[in-house]
Amino acid sequence: MAERKKVLVLGAGYAGLQTVAKLQKQLSEEDAQITLINKNDYHYEATWLHEASAGTLNYEDVLYPIASVLKKHVKFVKAEVTKIDRNAKKVETTNGIFDFDILVVGLGFESETFGIEGMKEHAFQIENVNTARQISRHIEDKFANYAASKTKDNKDLAILVGGAGFTGVEFLGELTDRIPELANKYGVDQSKVKITCVEAAPKMLPMFSDELVNHAVSYLEERGVEFKVGTPIVAANEKGFVVKVDDKEQQLEANTVVWAAGVRGSHLMEKSFEGVKRGRIVTKQDLTIDGYDDIFVIGDVSAFIPEGADRPLPTTAQLAMQQGEKTATNIKHILKGEPTENFTYADRGTVCSLGRHDGVGVVFGREITGKKAAFMKRVVDTRAVFKIGGLGLAYKKGKF
Ligand SMILES: Cc1cc2nc3c(=O)[nH]c(=O)nc-3n(C[C@H](O)[C@H](O)[C@H](O)COP(=O)(O)OP(=O)(O)OC[C@H]3O[C@@H](n4cnc5c(N)ncnc54)[C@H](O)[C@@H]3O)c2cc1C
Repeated sequence: MAERKKVLVLGAGYAGLQTVAKLQKQLSEEDAQITLINKNDYHYEATWLHEASAGTLNYEDVLYPIASVLKKHVKFVKAEVTKIDRNAKKVETTNGIFDFDILVVGLGFESETFGIEGMKEHAFQIENVNTARQISRHIEDKFANYAASKTKDNKDLAILVGGAGFTGVEFLGELTDRIPELANKYGVDQSKVKITCVEAAPKMLPMFSDELVNHAVSYLEERGVEFKVGTPIVAANEKGFVVKVDDKEQQLEANTVVWAAGVRGSHLMEKSFEGVKRGRIVTKQDLTIDGYDDIFVIGDVSAFIPEGADRPLPTTAQLAMQQGEKTATNIKHILKGEPTENFTYADRGTVCSLGRHDGVGVVFGREITGKKAAFMKRVVDTRAVFKIGGLGLAYKKGKF
């Protein structure tokens, strides 16, 4: 019997787990030795982190054990990847060194603060399950503190959000659902709560039309959110954000400060590959990288430029999952000695939630708002878990 090839998948996010989910159906134990490495023994739905951060969804509902979706012939290793040696075909981790014949890198995103002074130290980041749990607990603690204290520091009820892009707006939507619950629980006058969103660019949600943006803004403003658009944040400190207005610096104060304005690919990418920008490497059309036909780079660590286009597609879970599926197909081709296929992206649309009951989006080219958008968001979220774990997982984790 020919020696079994070693297929090593790094990261069990949308990209890595989708690769393995498809690969384990296509390949038997005799075909290849498949190993998946991830730093936690659970997968989390990164696209639900704004809910866990606001506390509208329990953090436990955002995750599930990776082992629960793996077949017996896939080996799972809980470890943090510390080094990828592409030429020696070895990956170093906190749990040993692994060699590979075919490598899939799906190490995902990290928060990007663009060098803004104090942002890493003084603002929470919506980055993973742990940071999400910290944010929701912190917000609730501040309400409890306000209710219990005699001096009543209004800053305990003030929340500053940096960024009015997709993540920032989705987080604001959840906050407008969560605040009335917290105010009620702690007997706090809701009119004293102040949520301020600061955005440097002149336009929020740049991927959407003015009509959709206006819908999102008026929905959130009606629920108490104040927007400061076209206002750069120049620093974060123990008091809040320092912003620039008419060339003068102003201090905005709050006891909860959240940065939701940027992500980059894993910092390991710069350490492991050449030509990496903000943790992302440009891939070839079949999702491998230049000079390495057996290394696939997918999801948020990749920059995929479709043929004929001049810029990479925005990194999303939708893209990561489609890339995972194509990678599984291409690995099968390589193992059979066949040529790989090029990846083509099928854009099914984007829906930005505004809490549980509203949203804005474009689905199959049509703009939608309100309850219809909120419903579509639940369909998209449920589909993501169904695609990895089938009906059983969709039943447990789906949003019905
Ligand atoms: C709040 C929020 C809302 C979003 N909403 C949407 C949306 O509505 N639609 C959409 O399409 N996209 C959305 N996105 C973007 C989407 O979440 C990402 O594009 C997607 O998660 C990328 O998938 P990935 O598999 O590449 O990486 P990730 O989901 O980041 O997964 C990477 C995995 O690798 C693991 N890992 C990282 N480093 C190491 C290491 N050194 N060693 C071992 N394991 C490691 C991580 O723990 C994780 O399990 C949203 C993002 C956020 C933050």
